[in-house]
Amino acid sequence: MKFGIIGINGRMGQEIKNLFQEYGSNIVFSFDKDGENKTDKPDILIDFSLPEVFEKTLEFTLKMKVPLIIGTTGLSDDQLRKLREISSEVPVVQSYNFSIGIQMLLKATEMLNDNLPDWDVEISETHHRFKKDKPSGTAIMIQNIFDKNVNTSALRLGNVAGDHSVSFGSLGEIVTVSHRALSRRTFAEGVYKSAQFLKHKTNGLYTFKEVIFSK
Ligand code: NAD
Repeated sequence: MKFGIIGINGRMGQEIKNLFQEYGSNIVFSFDKDGENKTDKPDILIDFSLPEVFEKTLEFTLKMKVPLIIGTTGLSDDQLRKLREISSEVPVVQSYNFSIGIQMLLKATEMLNDNLPDWDVEISETHHRFKKDKPSGTAIMIQNIFDKNVNTSALRLGNVAGDHSVSFGSLGEIVTVSHRALSRRTFAEGVYKSAQFLKHKTNGLYTFKEVIFSK
């Protein structure tokens, strides 16, 4: 597979490039603050950058007419709407979290919410000191499960790749589900899975949940 990365010089850009190359894919396009580098047309574009790069990502995707995987967090409602619009022209996978374990945490949270509607709920997330958005995209995905507002505590500490937990409390007991990403490689593996998934997909906007749970 020939691939392109937007945000190539970043932590995730490098992790994804290394993993795709390890699996035999070739990088033919990249974009970052130092400009673009193209040796061939990619089969797929991958964006892990910042929301301010989003317009460029749309431009590249539509010009090359290739599937897009976007993991950039902190996108605005308007940007998410535009992503839906371009998904009528190319297949897109968008997720604020590409780890399998977080999909399990989301499922467990849905189950607990269905069964414990009157319990207090608190979300907590911890990330490395360089993370720009707060709360994390994953915390927003967790919040979106609930019909009510759920408080989120966001900590920025050291080099943590990503910790999330959801606690449900009654007067007598507390149940907590939690997830820890041990390295960024786990997200890169999810991006690779998404690239394989997109090989068989027509235009449309897909989630990582669909990548994981569709046969
Ligand atoms: P990073 O800061 O290390 O990398 C971002 C890259 O984007 C940098 O190389 C930077 O130079 C580039 N960039 C920023 N502004 C630019 C501009 N105006 N033009 C061109 N390039 C520009 O960040 P990271 O840790 O690699 O994370 C990247 C994004 O991915 C963040 O939004 C982060 O929250 C998100 N993320 C998502 C997941 C997921 O599973 N969806 C996992 C980890 C990180």
